[in-house]
Amino acid sequence: MSEQSISAAQIFDGCSFQSQKQIIWEKDHIIAIKDCSKLPQNSKIILPGFINLHCHLELTALEGLLPQKKDFPQWVEVLQKHTAAFSTHDWEKSVQKGLDLSLQSGVTSIFDVGNSGATWSAEISTPIRLWAAVELLGNAGEDTLPPPLGPPKHRRGYSAHALYSCGGDCWHKAKDFCQKNDFPFSFHLAESLAEHKLLTQGQGIMRSWLDAKTPHHNFKKPGLAPLARALKLGVLQGSIAVHGNTLSPEDLQNLAQNQCGLVHCPQSAEWFGHPPLDMLSCDKSDLPVSIGSDSLASAHSLSLWEQMAVFAKNHPHYSVEEVLARVTAVPAQILGEESSLGSLTPGSKADFMVVEWGQNWEQLPQVQQVYISGKLVYENI
Ligand SMILES: [Zn+2]
Repeated sequence: MSEQSISAAQIFDGCSFQSQKQIIWEKDHIIAIKDCSKLPQNSKIILPGFINLHCHLELTALEGLLPQKKDFPQWVEVLQKHTAAFSTHDWEKSVQKGLDLSLQSGVTSIFDVGNSGATWSAEISTPIRLWAAVELLGNAGEDTLPPPLGPPKHRRGYSAHALYSCGGDCWHKAKDFCQKNDFPFSFHLAESLAEHKLLTQGQGIMRSWLDAKTPHHNFKKPGLAPLARALKLGVLQGSIAVHGNTLSPEDLQNLAQNQCGLVHCPQSAEWFGHPPLDMLSCDKSDLPVSIGSDSLASAHSLSLWEQMAVFAKNHPHYSVEEVLARVTAVPAQILGEESSLGSLTPGSKADFMVVEWGQNWEQLPQVQQVYISGKLVYENI
């Protein structure tokens, strides 16, 4: 295949905006970024395809059905009611819809977490780069982990749900699998005050829920805050932690020292009314913080544009470039894929989108085109 090119009034290269550039690519990767000899007659901006590091695609079908500002037990009860009769096909349809919505908003890479295994299904069709993790709960993993099925179309692995919902063996089996298979290890960490109370004091609404739902559970109060518990389990190093809403400045520093990345889901945090993530301490610790969507069971949109708009409203001191980096260069770095994803530089994959946008978070753009591996995979002009 011969060289292809596209020009724009501006590009965002993963770090900053540059004017009047031409992107040249061959096959699946960018080979050069050049100055434009003549000014393109439009206000188009080309950006790297966005990377969503936290999503539960299988819950897309629950859009608008779940309550806001409720504790996790009440929320999950409603979720379970809605999904109790889901067939394999229902889960797959939900995943497919989530992938399609994501692509339409310029997302070209997703780290997905699911319980149903539907994201692993051969029925799922998408050009999106997918890391599909099956989430372990309870004592799953005490026996051999179920192997990723069939010839992998996408990268497949495991994640652990959370410190209060997984046994120690579950954690170690999942983490070992990820390390051996070069698959990022991710888990929910310190999402809510109720979780903090359960882990430190063994009390509160989550303890009552656990007692009522599983009378013979063997949950023992660790007596440790979430981060300390993860450290004690030895599962923190190099992981992708999700949420972190109740982490202290010292915890956030500890995450950075353990080479972790953190995924913040702004709409989901507001949906539940969690405490705000301490971004000042994240920055002081040089902790890479990416912006993810979570699912449509606790967010209004899978669009990272919408997530960034909420983040920018809550943290107005960040520049547009700094916010955009949290869905491009930063998640690429967290994935260890910074040489191929999240930027527009020679050698990177030709994953990018074309928009017209005034760089104003109150007026988000329509995505006009999306390219993945140099191929036009979505167009809406
Ligand atoms: Zn989640």
